[in-house]
Amino acid sequence: MIDFSLTEEQKALRDMARDFAKNEIIPKSAHLDETGEYPMDILKKAWEIGLMNLHIEQKFGGPEMHDLDEVIIAEELNFGCSGVATAILANNLALAPVLVGADDDLKKKFVEPMTHEFRLVAYAVTEPGAGSDVAGIRTTAVRKGDEYILNGSKQWITNAGVSDWMFVLTKTDINAGHKGMSGFIVDTKSPGVIIGKKEKNMGQKCSDTRAVTFEDVKIPKNQMVGKEGDGFKIAMAAFDHTRPCVAIGAVGVARSAFEHSVRYANTRSAFGKTISSNQGISFILAEMARDIEAGRLLSWQSAWLIDNGFKNTYQASIAKAFCADMCVRVCTDAVQVFGGYGYNGEYPVEKLMRDSKIFQIYEGTSQIQRVIISKYINDGKGIEGPNL
Ligand SMILES: Cc1cc2nc3c(=O)[nH]c(=O)nc-3n(C[C@H](O)[C@H](O)[C@H](O)COP(=O)(O)OP(=O)(O)OC[C@H]3O[C@@H](n4cnc5c(N)ncnc54)[C@H](O)[C@@H]3O)c2cc1C
Repeated sequence: MIDFSLTEEQKALRDMARDFAKNEIIPKSAHLDETGEYPMDILKKAWEIGLMNLHIEQKFGGPEMHDLDEVIIAEELNFGCSGVATAILANNLALAPVLVGADDDLKKKFVEPMTHEFRLVAYAVTEPGAGSDVAGIRTTAVRKGDEYILNGSKQWITNAGVSDWMFVLTKTDINAGHKGMSGFIVDTKSPGVIIGKKEKNMGQKCSDTRAVTFEDVKIPKNQMVGKEGDGFKIAMAAFDHTRPCVAIGAVGVARSAFEHSVRYANTRSAFGKTISSNQGISFILAEMARDIEAGRLLSWQSAWLIDNGFKNTYQASIAKAFCADMCVRVCTDAVQVFGGYGYNGEYPVEKLMRDSKIFQIYEGTSQIQRVIISKYINDGKGIEGPNL
């Protein structure tokens, strides 16, 4: 049986996120884009109404939502502004490896407090010399008594400047490739954690992206997430949960570009008629609608699979690759529909085109998604569809 209907709870979540985007995000998104201000007030409100930390288990006071629930919420938040959405949803990204790999004591110490008070956290994997090639990271964690000593640098870490703690991927054995990697929860206030300046990015201007350096940072050994050597496995397992959400984020941005384009095309006149009455424009709109629908279904499917206990790596990569590329295409086409006004910062689609590009880069680039998809195809797995 295939059923695309949302439950009453999911509809309520969607409506809550949609209202939040309409009332709290959209009115401020142009200002945030122009100033690059961090949307702290919006995040606090999002936390208060339950739009953050969606997957924390009930035994720790969280809502223990499914990935599909997050996907439904994330479309609406990204429709509002993907810079704000990235800031809000970064907690889910940082929590993902911890919820996958940490024991209950560690969760009690670092995760449970996030349900009582507003806290931001970050996911620190990428380094100056290694992004796609996660196994190529060089941050080391060396055991000394009951502690590990961390040294190294991370790059492009979302929410680094505002976070209480970070999930940090390290090498505990530099000679063991991806099997020598271990993840830690690092308190951002620990001596030796140096947070860099806020980066000036092309889009998602209000999101906080920074480099982080670790200089002889002492971490209690019980802040290791999972077992020594399990870091790579845990970080990759986390992507299965987070990629459907990034994919739907791209759908949300594309939907915004589409809605702006439809409104504009139905009001702008050229040669004595609205531009939408030209097939050359209406076909652009039709293709936008087609691709947004396809992207939403792929995102929903990849989330549904993992929620229901199926391996979703292949489908999550397909969803992420399709939606990111689709979003860039749709936003670029939206600029085209707006003509000269599309190229101007006073009109909304210029921001969307800048914002869209990051979806092809973070959480695994579009090329890396194709590497994963190709591996499944070459191994003879995946293309026959999920084995339900
Ligand atoms: C705004 C922003 C926010 C981010 N947030 C975070 C965060 O919170 N935490 C975090 O850990 N990281 C974060 N990142 C980092 C992001 O995940 C990496 O930038 C991304 O994984 C790519 O890594 P890289 O930049 O080192 O590029 P590289 O890995 O150097 O890749 C450069 C180019 O080569 C291509 N390439 C690389 N290998 C292959 C291959 N095998 N086949 C084909 N093409 C290949 C890539 O697709 C890309 O086009 C963020 C980045 C940005 C820009």
